[in-house]
Amino acid sequence: MLRLRAGGRPAMFPFVRRDTLMGTEVHQCVHGIHAHRVAEKAVGEIKRLESLWSPFLEGSEVVALSHSAGLRAVPLSPETVCVLLFAIEMNALCAGAFDVSLGPVIRLWREAGRRGSPPAPGAIAAALGLKGSAEVEVSSAGGGYLPRKGQGIDLGGIGKGFAADRVREIYLDAGIRSAFVNLGGNVFVVGRKPDGRRWNVGIRDPRGGRDECVGYAQAEDCSAVTSGAYERFFECAGIRYHHIIDPATGRPSESDVAGVTVFAQSSMAADALSTAAFVLGVEKGMELIESREGARAVFIDAQGRIRLTRGLEKDFHPVFGPVGEAATSPGAAEASSSRG
Ligand code: ADP
Ligand code: MG
Repeated sequence: MLRLRAGGRPAMFPFVRRDTLMGTEVHQCVHGIHAHRVAEKAVGEIKRLESLWSPFLEGSEVVALSHSAGLRAVPLSPETVCVLLFAIEMNALCAGAFDVSLGPVIRLWREAGRRGSPPAPGAIAAALGLKGSAEVEVSSAGGGYLPRKGQGIDLGGIGKGFAADRVREIYLDAGIRSAFVNLGGNVFVVGRKPDGRRWNVGIRDPRGGRDECVGYAQAEDCSAVTSGAYERFFECAGIRYHHIIDPATGRPSESDVAGVTVFAQSSMAADALSTAAFVLGVEKGMELIESREGARAVFIDAQGRIRLTRGLEKDFHPVFGPVGEAATSPGAAEASSSRG
């Protein structure tokens, strides 16, 4: 329900809240009478999911899985079962480009980032040897098991998507009909803006600053998730090492994608697909997205060229010039798809 002014027109001013959760900035912009209470509930839910999936919290299910690898199964909450089953399915669908069993490899690169130098090739090879999405045993009754000692999972490429879907459920249950949320690059919009127009989701220029967009896509009731090499990285000896790993090499992906934004109903699906499409590169990534019912994407390649999957042309508006040409200029949008 929209907040009504005395004259009966919907209030245009949303309730806005910013938090740091799941290691990223969460920005909620919610229209409705009890928006502040609903946003509070959303924060509680994201914190709960973070406590299940954080690789840093001793009590998390992700940590328990790796500690028990090769030893015993551990009990898992229904949320973790759901995410793992979907991730395993996605791995098979995208020729292995999305792989939550990269836990040991991702841990190596995280330590490398703190240290400021890349891991030794031998260490990468050893960690990569522990990869095995098909080996992860998950029972819908609520148990999980990694068969080899040293194995571990990392939900960094999908957890925020699940969380975003949960927040949307909380909004809908509370009667919220208009909102946008940016959960560290996972945007979703509920309904339309109070004035009846669609939301503008800004597509960030991978080579530009935080607020520079190559264009925007008009959206209602959908998720838009971005993966980009510019989001998180460290530099050593003039080389940039970013955080999206190619499961074939155990090293930051060197595909021709600079940034990709995937639109889909489910934020969890869009999250996994954006990471996979980034690793696969523009051509194979486009094929993957077009093979998924309801999914669409904007790719920006290393030269700054924009490519759209089928069906997005009518909703995407470049900031400068026709699609296919490099576009680098500031764009105005309510909800940028970039992190924070
Ligand atoms: P972001 O976390 O910046 O929104 P992504 O959704 O693309 O971007 O997820 C990147 C995160 O996912 C990494 O920080 C890491 O935790 C994990 N990850 C990296 N490479 C892969 C991969 N190939 N498959 C699955 N998860 C990955
Ligand atoms: Mg992702």
